[in-house]
Amino acid sequence: MIYLDNAATTKMQEEVLEAMLPYLTEDYGNPSSVYVLASKAANAVARARAQVADLIRAKEHEIFFTSGGTEADNWALQGALLLGRTSMRMADGRNKKHIISSRIEHHAILHCLERLEEEGLAEVTLLPVDEEGFVDPSDLASVLRPETVLVSVMAANNEIGTIEPIAELVALTHKAGALFHTDAVQAFGQIPLDVRELGVDLMSASAHKIYGPKGAGMLYIQESIPFRSMIQGGPQEKNRRAGTENVLGIVGFGAACAYAGRTMEDRMTRERQLRDLLIKRIREIFPAAKLNGPQSEGTRDLRLPGNVNICFPGKSAELLLIMLDAKGIMASAGSACASGSLDPSHVLAATGLSADDNRASLRFSLGEETSRGEIEKTADALGRILDELRNGQGV
Ligand code: PLP
Repeated sequence: MIYLDNAATTKMQEEVLEAMLPYLTEDYGNPSSVYVLASKAANAVARARAQVADLIRAKEHEIFFTSGGTEADNWALQGALLLGRTSMRMADGRNKKHIISSRIEHHAILHCLERLEEEGLAEVTLLPVDEEGFVDPSDLASVLRPETVLVSVMAANNEIGTIEPIAELVALTHKAGALFHTDAVQAFGQIPLDVRELGVDLMSASAHKIYGPKGAGMLYIQESIPFRSMIQGGPQEKNRRAGTENVLGIVGFGAACAYAGRTMEDRMTRERQLRDLLIKRIREIFPAAKLNGPQSEGTRDLRLPGNVNICFPGKSAELLLIMLDAKGIMASAGSACASGSLDPSHVLAATGLSADDNRASLRFSLGEETSRGEIEKTADALGRILDELRNGQGV
């Protein structure tokens, strides 16, 4: 079995599992209670908060645990709108309700924005991207307006790995008096992120993309922003996210952050080498193959280290995936979280790819366990599959 779908989710690290186990068994206290068992859980949550904060150079009290990246994204958008109706109102008393985002965001952003727009709560502008998936800061500058309450652009794209120019976008956004959120679910723990250097006000992240458990994530909220809770109830997370803490998931998230921080540099180097090897081997096997996303020398390192998204013109990605699966190799097509449904990708469409090339594109996402041998085997298997298809055996 060769797992090349790490952008969809990752295999949990042994040390993460070990950190979590006591909270599944003997340390089951509710962090809000007063006895020793409870304080063990509360201390574990506090330790995890410090581990998460450390990875992005945030302060501990700026980390708010959520059920994952999706909840954090929804909260960022809805929380900003709420602020636009209260503390961020314009001089003439009108609400700030314009949100700017990009066409290549994850559905956790795009579908939430659609809903907010449908309900008349927000006016949304989606920025285009170039053929490599980059947002152009001058496009942002031209659509910012006094009513803009929030700009939300992802740190790195989940399908094509494009790493966006966040610091530049933040500077423009702040000059216009709006907040900046970045969905960093794919970048967090994979490349260095420093919230103060980037200047972001809000950042979403998720544990299961970095060798941690599913169902745990966080929203970073810069300390001066009076963001309110999206979920009403108890006083957990300093009154900003009600509900008994997912102690197990939070502990796992913290341990995953510690692991990610310690191993990041080596992982990045290794994954970049393997990524480039896979691209090279695919091009040898199938010279017509076209890399999607950042590709020129100048933008090579602006692609996530583990991302290969490549088009096999004239071939069906769906069929290639099935044939790879039959050989024990797992990859994906279309959007990460929508694999299983092979709708053409909105990300590839936004980069200008034709509908045909869109349906002929595969994503291989490498992880810490990916080996050179696996990359070679995958390339060999692709070669055999493409031969079979040429000889009409694959259909
Ligand atoms: N944002 C991006 C860019 C993602 O890739 C994903 C998951 O694939 C999410 C958000 C959703 O995160 P979660 O699965 O933790 O809800």
